[in-house]
Amino acid sequence: MNTAILVSEVGLRDGLQSIERVMPLKAKKRWIAAEAAAGVKEIEVGSFVPSKLLPQMDDTAELVAFAKEIEGLNVVTLVPNAKGAQRAAAAGVHGMSIPFSMSETHSLKNVRKTHAQMLEEIAACAEIASGNGIHFAVSLATAFGCTLEGAVPEDRVVALAEKAIEAGALELSLSDTTGYADPAQVRRLVRRVREAVGADRLTTLHLHNTRGLGLANVVAGLEEGITTFDASLGGLGGCPFAPGASGNLVTEDLVLMLNAMGLSTGIDLDALLAVRAILEEALPGEPLYGFAADAGPMLDYRQRTVA
Ligand code: ZN
Repeated sequence: MNTAILVSEVGLRDGLQSIERVMPLKAKKRWIAAEAAAGVKEIEVGSFVPSKLLPQMDDTAELVAFAKEIEGLNVVTLVPNAKGAQRAAAAGVHGMSIPFSMSETHSLKNVRKTHAQMLEEIAACAEIASGNGIHFAVSLATAFGCTLEGAVPEDRVVALAEKAIEAGALELSLSDTTGYADPAQVRRLVRRVREAVGADRLTTLHLHNTRGLGLANVVAGLEEGITTFDASLGGLGGCPFAPGASGNLVTEDLVLMLNAMGLSTGIDLDALLAVRAILEEALPGEPLYGFAADAGPMLDYRQRTVA
């Protein structure tokens, strides 16, 4: 098969925003450089949120400038609104994405905006992005359920996905913000959203491993033709509730599985595992997760598939 799968590292954003400590800029740069050297082709280096809210993300513009110097690396950031999109454009990102919560309660609580107000914000961001030649994606957050609202109706996700595309999103991703997704639901929702907006508009899943279903959900996504998966090195961040279960999908475990399945990630697992040392040094005591790190890499798939 040898299908190319893009592993997008989101630890510098999703991981670092969920821990209180601020990782020094120098360590962030070493992290980015080491992952790119291991073969990671896309990194979300930070987020253009107001400094008062997340001082951890203060150096995002500097990280964009640094990461853009690395050849072949796609440099993306999160933006919460049009103001953030302007900062991202000024920094010269390759791509930006805005979270759009499918739960209006969650949206009101998080960014104090209704769905209608968010769609206006998305349209404003889309205009800034297209004016600057930047790829623009909308991440459909809490698409698989919300801790505040409970179940999120799939009809609503499909309808809001269509509206986000109308507002100017070039691409969507489905985000399991709360770790509620199961493989059957992943298959169903990917299929339904793709039917509504076109398969080329939904190629990314942002999955968490809160309840241990992260990799099962990845396989469900693969079976539906998804080709990009977000993950965080060491499963950093994302509110772990149970010992051994990280919040975010662990990049190393994802790469281990994809490589073992014979899918082409272009990532050297041993080199990726070595990047953990940078996190251990810069964030001492911060829990890092992952089976690949504990158990060691698998046999190469070619060795394992001898008839
Ligand atoms: Zn996340």
